[in-house]
Amino acid sequence: MKPPRAIAIAAHPDDIEFCMAGTLLLLKEVGWEIHYLNVSTGNCGSMTMSAAKTRSTRRAEAKRAAKILGAHWHPPMCDDLEILYDIKTLRRLASIVREVSPSIVLTHSPQDYMEDHMNTCRLAVTAAFSRGMPNFKTIPSRPAVECDVTLYHALPHGLRDGLRRRIVPGSFVNTTSVHATKRAALAAHVSQKPWLDASQGMDSYLLAMDEMSREVGKLSRRFKHAEGWRRHLHLGFSSSEIDPLSDALGKDCLINQSYERSLHATN
Ligand SMILES: [Zn+2]
Repeated sequence: MKPPRAIAIAAHPDDIEFCMAGTLLLLKEVGWEIHYLNVSTGNCGSMTMSAAKTRSTRRAEAKRAAKILGAHWHPPMCDDLEILYDIKTLRRLASIVREVSPSIVLTHSPQDYMEDHMNTCRLAVTAAFSRGMPNFKTIPSRPAVECDVTLYHALPHGLRDGLRRRIVPGSFVNTTSVHATKRAALAAHVSQKPWLDASQGMDSYLLAMDEMSREVGKLSRRFKHAEGWRRHLHLGFSSSEIDPLSDALGKDCLINQSYERSLHATN
């Protein structure tokens, strides 16, 4: 029998390593096949290299990172700031979703600090939604697949939406045991250190990731390092409400009960 599959669909090379890679690594440990896809080439992520040179450098870095994670790498399909919710990108992404036929899709938060992240999220949601529709044509063409899929949204950059409001995770994944590997995968994006230092004052991008995962760990009140997730509504994606991430990871996945209660509040 084929192992269950999970795919992380993020905007830029290194986004997966910031907020999704720990969860991918844990899924791999329990027998899942994991897939890694950045929609953009990352061509704008340099102050000194040309777009073409940045594209090829970052492609090699992302491949190395995927190898460190033990993930199947998929090539990007857009350039930075050009991830649009358009039909061509949607058809291409939908083709990958049909090829992988994942039970879990990890992607960005619907609210995030920049449009590439939010558009990637929308594209991933619809690519998953269209998986079973034979009349929706993909590029390249692939037959529709019948499978339940569950989408999980990562926490936004800065743990806040674009209007500065705090985003509270619905579940926490304990990434403490895989933090070193997650960090090694992020470190494969060598070209990003000077760029992020200059553009976002992130000091070291590795320290920024450490800090984010510790902050989410603190929010969990249980784990040292954590990634936070919000599970998408199941309608259109599975016949009943399911939580395969929690099922797969057991005690390493902590449901945020106050978030769950807030969903069921009537006023
Ligand atoms: Zn990004």
